[in-house]
Amino acid sequence: MHDIHIHTSLSSCADPGSELSDYAPAIKEANLSAVGFANHLWDSAIPGASDWYRPQNIEHVMQLKNQLKNYDFGSAKVYFGCETEYIGNGVVGLHPDNAGLFDYILVPPNHFHMAGFTRPENLTALPDVRQLMIEHFLEICDIDFAFGLVHPFVPLGYEDQGQELLHGFKDEDFEKCFKYAAKKDKRIEINLCIFRHLDRVQLKEYKRLMTIARICGCKFFSGSDSHCADVFRQDTGKLLNDFITDCGIVLPDNPFTN
Ligand SMILES: [Zn+2]
Ligand SMILES: [Zn+2]
Repeated sequence: MHDIHIHTSLSSCADPGSELSDYAPAIKEANLSAVGFANHLWDSAIPGASDWYRPQNIEHVMQLKNQLKNYDFGSAKVYFGCETEYIGNGVVGLHPDNAGLFDYILVPPNHFHMAGFTRPENLTALPDVRQLMIEHFLEICDIDFAFGLVHPFVPLGYEDQGQELLHGFKDEDFEKCFKYAAKKDKRIEINLCIFRHLDRVQLKEYKRLMTIARICGCKFFSGSDSHCADVFRQDTGKLLNDFITDCGIVLPDNPFTN
């Protein structure tokens, strides 16, 4: 198993206990095949950073790269990545010239908790929210350097209406998105936050969309989206296994090699 979506203390939203010295023993114990760190990033070469993103630029997130070799992650092959941002109209928070600094780049289509930045402040009608989620998803598939889309269709910013939001997507909406992702070879994340944020009914909807993604030929990876090392000590392995089994999904040991 692998986990390529881990935040350290370099991410402004990280919790205490998110230093590499916290993660290394937890990851070693978890016996992973591959592990990847992906802090939030907005490249200063791209105008328009929000106040929250501005300090989290290339120089900032690169601090981790050299530190990684100082820690023992056991069996895990270690990758240095980032989670940049997508705000629509083709604007992604990383300049293509800097993409080569990272082993891989994750892009979130729906950080919709950042109202007024990733989506209009007054976006309240659920059909419009769905439409924007679909648009962002499809547009990210056209970003050459994007390895994968993280937490697709998780109703961030719309948690209270999550069930209605997810239920309102037609199978064809998901098919359109996931067929395009498969065609463009963009990987789809099974983000462990679904077990924290989605209730049983919402999880059922989420199974529907991930099953469609599998049928459309998508390839998958998993990410804990950890903001502290304690996540590795919670037993999410069974939840994840049950979920992917129900969807008919098989996760690779290492998404970068298979
Ligand atoms: Zn995210
Ligand atoms: Zn994240």
